[in-house]
Amino acid sequence: MAHRRRPKLGQHFLHEKRYLSQIIDLADIVPDENVLEIGVGEGALTRRLLDAGAIVHGIEIDDALIPTLQKMEDEYEGFHLIHGDALEIDYAALPKKMKLVANLPYQVASAILSQLTEKIEQFPLMVLMVQREVGERLCAAPGGKDYGSLTLWVGYRYKARLCQVVPPGAFQPPPKVDSAIICLEAREEPQVKVGDENLYFRIIQAGFTHRRKTLFNNLKALNLYELKDTKNLSSNPEVLQDLLQRAGIDPGRRAETLDAYEFARIARDVESLAGNK
Ligand code: SAM
Repeated sequence: MAHRRRPKLGQHFLHEKRYLSQIIDLADIVPDENVLEIGVGEGALTRRLLDAGAIVHGIEIDDALIPTLQKMEDEYEGFHLIHGDALEIDYAALPKKMKLVANLPYQVASAILSQLTEKIEQFPLMVLMVQREVGERLCAAPGGKDYGSLTLWVGYRYKARLCQVVPPGAFQPPPKVDSAIICLEAREEPQVKVGDENLYFRIIQAGFTHRRKTLFNNLKALNLYELKDTKNLSSNPEVLQDLLQRAGIDPGRRAETLDAYEFARIARDVESLAGNK
């Protein structure tokens, strides 16, 4: 295929067969099941998915690849090409339940993950090639530099597993960094129990704003409109002090040392305080 590859679009095509096979094995394709592939590229993974019996809904943004992929659509009854940007697609128009199997374009991988991991009913399993660093962030335990809001955001709904580190040489052209195959499996229940998910994630987001600052200093900037008159924590630091104390958390700790249960305790304490007012 005479196509000029565009690194700006993350066009590092996977050519090493054993990694393509590993992705197919991990996806455990059942004939005639729906699969979403983001970033079809030259179709190497797509063909493997189709040969395993999947019905593939493949998104590709690059106009230059479309004519060849349209020919592939004629060749395979089970292939449905979607020409567009994965960040703009209306996923509600796709089948209600499908596996997401993709070698993600790295420049938008975190944005795609943030968006699609909210849809666990639609995507109960994801098998993805991502930049190794992203894979390590998804699987990180509290206490390290990789652990952060993306870990907690995805971890709330999915169990993440880093299955395989993949070297640059497996791709054409090779990227500058290692990659990783990861599996995200939807949890039956969210990782932690909170009444208001939005509040839980706002606390996490605020906690990680400046990684070197303490939890107390980061959370001061959080607008807790749930608490009405004391919502502005920077002018009511005693409210924040009290909140962290009730949750049994030292205000001098950094967000990266807190696990999901501890963030959830803070969120539940805000909720109960709001209820008591
Ligand atoms: N699936 C192929 C493979 O495994 O060899 C190609 C993977 S390549 C890493 C990523 C593909 O995603 C490229 O073909 C690129 O053009 C496409 N892409 C980049 N940004 C995209 C976006 N926002 N929406 C849809 N496709 C995108």
